[in-house]
Amino acid sequence: MENRDAELAEKILSLKKRRNAVILAHNYQLGEVQDIADFVGDSLGLSQNAAKTSAEVIIFCGVHFMAETASIICPDKTVLLPDINAGCPMANMITAEKLRDKKMELPYVPVVCYINSSAEVKAESDICCTSANAVKVVESLETREILFVPDLYLGHYISTQTNKEMILWPGFCPTHLRIRPEHLTRLRQEYPQAKVIVHPECRPEVIALADEVLSTGGMCRFAQQTETKEIVVGTEIGIIHRLKRENPGKKFIHVSEQAVCPNMKLITLEKILWSLEEMAPEVKVPEEIRLKAKAAVDRMLEIGRG
Ligand code: SF4
Repeated sequence: MENRDAELAEKILSLKKRRNAVILAHNYQLGEVQDIADFVGDSLGLSQNAAKTSAEVIIFCGVHFMAETASIICPDKTVLLPDINAGCPMANMITAEKLRDKKMELPYVPVVCYINSSAEVKAESDICCTSANAVKVVESLETREILFVPDLYLGHYISTQTNKEMILWPGFCPTHLRIRPEHLTRLRQEYPQAKVIVHPECRPEVIALADEVLSTGGMCRFAQQTETKEIVVGTEIGIIHRLKRENPGKKFIHVSEQAVCPNMKLITLEKILWSLEEMAPEVKVPEEIRLKAKAAVDRMLEIGRG
C-alpha cells in the first residue's frame, strides 16, 4: 500500500508541475493527501493561500464550499475538486432562498455567514467568517443584533464571547455533534495531565469541559507552543495526522472514533491524479453570484485571523 501511495504521489507531483497546479488540503483530509499538498490548513489559511498563489490550477482537497471559495477569490484559475460529491451537510442546511426569506423578517440585521456555506448563501450575506476569526468578525459590526448562519453551535459560542445578540440558524456539523461530554470526562480520567482542546462547532456541554476552544489552525499553533505533552483533541480525526507530524514528542488523543467526516475522506490520491489528468471536475461560481459572494469574503480577508 505504501509503495502504491509513493507511486501515485510521484505521478501527481510530476503532473502537477506540468499543469502549473498547486494542491491545497484541509486539516481533515486523509494523511496521504496532506502529505502531498503544498499547503495544509484551516478554511481561513486555505482561502488566504488561494488568494496569493501564482499557480494556474488549484486542486482543492476538501469539500465543495471550499473549492467554491477558491473560485470566488480566483476567477481566472481552474479550481478542481477531485470528488464532486464531497459536500458539507452543514452547508446544505441553508439555501439562498431561505436566507432571503429570513432577511425579509429582519431587514436591518446584518448577516454573518460561516465559510461553511454555498456561494449563493455567501452572496446573500454581509460578511463571511471562519472559526478562526468569527469573534473578531462579529465584533467588527456596529449593530447589536447579528443574524448568524448556518452553524447554531459556532454562533452560540460567539455569543458567549461577545455582547452581541445572535440570531442563530438551526444548522450544525453532524461530525462535531457526535462528540459528547462523556467522551471528555472519560479521557480526563484516563489522562489527568492532558490539556483538552475542542472546536467551536461542538455542542456547548462539550465546550464547557474544554481547556481551549480553537479552530483547527489554532489547534496546530497551540500544540506547538504548549509545554503540555498530552493533548486530547476534540475535532475531526484528520487533524491528528498533522499534529503528530509537527510535534513528534507529544501525544495526541483523539476524542472519539465517531468524529469522522465521511465527506472529507472522499478525496484520495487516485482521485487527485485522475483530476489532474482530466482537468475535472471543475468548480466554477457563476459571475453574478461570485461578485456578491466575493464582497463578503473580501471583507473577512481584510479582518484576517482572530
Ligand atoms: S466536518 Fe462538519 S462542517 Fe466540516 S465538512 Fe464535515 S460536515 Fe461539514
